[in-house]
Amino acid sequence: MALPLEILLDTVSARVIAAADELTALDSAIGDADHGVNLKRGFEAVQAEKANILAKPAGEALKTVGMTLVMKVGGASGPLYGTLFMTLGKELPGNPTFAGIGRALQASVTALKARGKAELGNKTMLDVLGPVATHLESGTASFDSVRALASGSARATVPMKAIRGRASFLGERSIGHMDPGARSSEIMIAAVCDVLEGKS
Ligand code: ADP
Ligand code: MG
Repeated sequence: MALPLEILLDTVSARVIAAADELTALDSAIGDADHGVNLKRGFEAVQAEKANILAKPAGEALKTVGMTLVMKVGGASGPLYGTLFMTLGKELPGNPTFAGIGRALQASVTALKARGKAELGNKTMLDVLGPVATHLESGTASFDSVRALASGSARATVPMKAIRGRASFLGERSIGHMDPGARSSEIMIAAVCDVLEGKS
């Protein structure tokens, strides 16, 4: 399928910015109450850079999105989401199938694991991105199944104990709260599904 980059960037940016308060509230329970603020700053910068980003071929454009996020988001999530978009820029084929998107997302997950020294089950964004990548790669994915898996995977971080990131400082007390990065990943995945399915 063709990737309508401008609508994708606009929709992902708008949804993340609209969820800033919710993401910050999640981060106030098990972190330092800045995840929404951090991502809002990052995606506002992406919007400010949009003309420059869209003037480039798709791969370079996504790399520029990633670099903008690294520079503007800060915190733990800036370099991680930056790595995600930079790897997608490198790995996404021209007219990808679900499986092609899955392979590119899996390569991003591998890069994120290395950068954050984290594994699946550590209560991070990886607990949404990893299962969604594997599901997309399987070739059995639909828009509905991807949205449902992203949402179920974010919910599944609630009973987990954080092993990586700031929430890990809380040990057992991190249990019972959704990971903010898992929720922001769910929001981005749902936004991409809605755009590609023509619902947004
Ligand atoms: P900070 O933790 O520096 O305040 P944010 O609040 O913006 O940064 O982002 C927190 C989110 O980043 C967490 O909810 C988690 O999903 C993700 N995260 C933190 N550390 C890691 C890591 N090592 N690997 C993967 N994701 C991580
Ligand atoms: Mg934080």
